[in-house]
Amino acid sequence: MRATNLYAPTLRNTPAEAEIASHQLMYRAGLIRKSAGGMYSYLPLAWRTIRKIEQIIRTEMDAAGGQEIMMPILQPSELWEESGRWGAYGAEMIRVKDRHDREFCMGPTHEEMITALVRDELRSYKQLPVLLYQIQDKFRDERRPRFGVMRSREFIMKDLYSFDKDVAGMNESYRKMSVAYTNIFTRCGLDFRAVEADSGAIGGGHSEEFTVLAPEGESRIACCDACSYAASDEKAALRPIAALDEAELPLEKVATPHTSTIALLAEYLKIPVEKTIKAVAYQTEDDTLILAFLRGDHEVNEIKLANAVPGARELRMADEEAIRAVGGCPGFMSPIGIAEGTHIVVDETAMWMHNAVSGANEVDFHYMNVNPKRDFGDVTVADIRLVEEGDACPVCEQGHLHIGRGIEAGQIFALGTKYSEAMGATFLDEAGKAQPMQMGCYGIGVGRTMAAAIEQNHDEHGIIWPRAIAPYEVVVVAVNAKVEEQLAYAEEIYEELRAAGVDVLLDDRRERAGVKFNDCDLIGYPVRIAIGPKTIENGSIEVKVRRTGELVNFARDTYLKGVQDMLATL
Ligand code: ATP
Ligand code: MG
Repeated sequence: MRATNLYAPTLRNTPAEAEIASHQLMYRAGLIRKSAGGMYSYLPLAWRTIRKIEQIIRTEMDAAGGQEIMMPILQPSELWEESGRWGAYGAEMIRVKDRHDREFCMGPTHEEMITALVRDELRSYKQLPVLLYQIQDKFRDERRPRFGVMRSREFIMKDLYSFDKDVAGMNESYRKMSVAYTNIFTRCGLDFRAVEADSGAIGGGHSEEFTVLAPEGESRIACCDACSYAASDEKAALRPIAALDEAELPLEKVATPHTSTIALLAEYLKIPVEKTIKAVAYQTEDDTLILAFLRGDHEVNEIKLANAVPGARELRMADEEAIRAVGGCPGFMSPIGIAEGTHIVVDETAMWMHNAVSGANEVDFHYMNVNPKRDFGDVTVADIRLVEEGDACPVCEQGHLHIGRGIEAGQIFALGTKYSEAMGATFLDEAGKAQPMQMGCYGIGVGRTMAAAIEQNHDEHGIIWPRAIAPYEVVVVAVNAKVEEQLAYAEEIYEELRAAGVDVLLDDRRERAGVKFNDCDLIGYPVRIAIGPKTIENGSIEVKVRRTGELVNFARDTYLKGVQDMLATL
């Protein structure tokens, strides 16, 4: 490919809406352009990278026994009624009607579609396992589309679904996918962690996220410094922190003027924040009130909290009236005296406290010497705390958890029989008995993987592509393309590299050298070869490694091997 023919409109300036480096660089390097909020076109350079990522994914899916198919994007509402998700999926689902007024959605995921596809024809245990996948655009009307293709409304996803005859089979398919995902992100040249994850709206049992490490990533993950435990902060299990043993003192109500926050309260009573119990009030989609109580210095993990209350989804901060209606007093909350039947969830650590201070459900009053086990009555006790730097590892004895950030590029789920049971996808087992199939589903965001690669690999000059997913591995620059000798020499080198199987671009534009070199750094080709006056004079070929900035001069007859050796290390 010649740069004179390449459609890669680079920009000097960054559009204001691009908040993080990967989004800015994808714009500036001419990789993507926006058509509407959360919808993007991929231009030629980006598309080459997408194709390379897809090819890596395909190879690994096929090696793990996957077979590629393609299902429709539009899915009839009836299938989603069967699984119960037509209502449950909420506003993220884009719904459309055809001319006969039949309802469809633009597929956000394909569990229903694929279960319906196989249920009539996979009938015997002898046909299982089956692993089917596709690479296709998905649609989700995200509450907050942002960061370009990282969180968009239309995005490319690889989704694979596994069907097995028993749990052991499902676990084996899951294990194969876990290995395949590790291979994929390793081959893409990314630094990532596989972390235990919450299974969210997809449902089912065990799940892992593959998180590409990047300081600006939306995911918070916790990794143990002593063992291999790693989990998303939504999932990270925490052991209750034991409180020191103390003799329980009698409950006492005290006046605490102007202490509606924990900090003010601790200061007023001259006690550590760790001695206080605070409340956070939520309401669910159907307005059910949930009161969460934790130690004053801890934060609520809303996912864990929702999981602790059957049927709770989509929590929002509660309205004051809802809190008052059950006898609560915002700013001065306590489980003591709240109307019966209210969902009260107390964090395990808070439950173990002795002689703590909590609100008294009355303005400017608190209870002293609160002993939750003695005083709180019938409440739900659960781990609802958000993991913090330095928390004890839930798995090993000695380790501590460290918080890092990253981008969820893929997620795998062992689903069990959630969809097969709801949708009647059964097979006959060895004894001739009908059984629901054991399913798994496994997704990778292809565009998000590209964006994550940039987020993890860039500097102030531009992108630094890992070689395997670079749009081109090498760029040959004719330093001054107006000088015919230089251009001819550059073309010769370009042809030699091509013949040797190197994925190479020729920058033959009649632009200033500085402009071309800046574009090379911005677009981030792993290796740049400059053909200039020195090359003409004495055959010296200057090769630059984008990541390190290292410059090496090769002789005409050794450069090819030199470049190939260099590429092998990138
Ligand atoms: P998130 O929590 O980031 O919203 P998710 O957990 O809902 O994502 P999954 O259902 O696990 O997403 O989808 C599989 C993969 O698809 C994700 O790991 C991610 O790489 C990609 N993906 C999901 N939503 C988007 C989106 N809005 N834009 C781009 N990629 C996405
Ligand atoms: Mg996910």
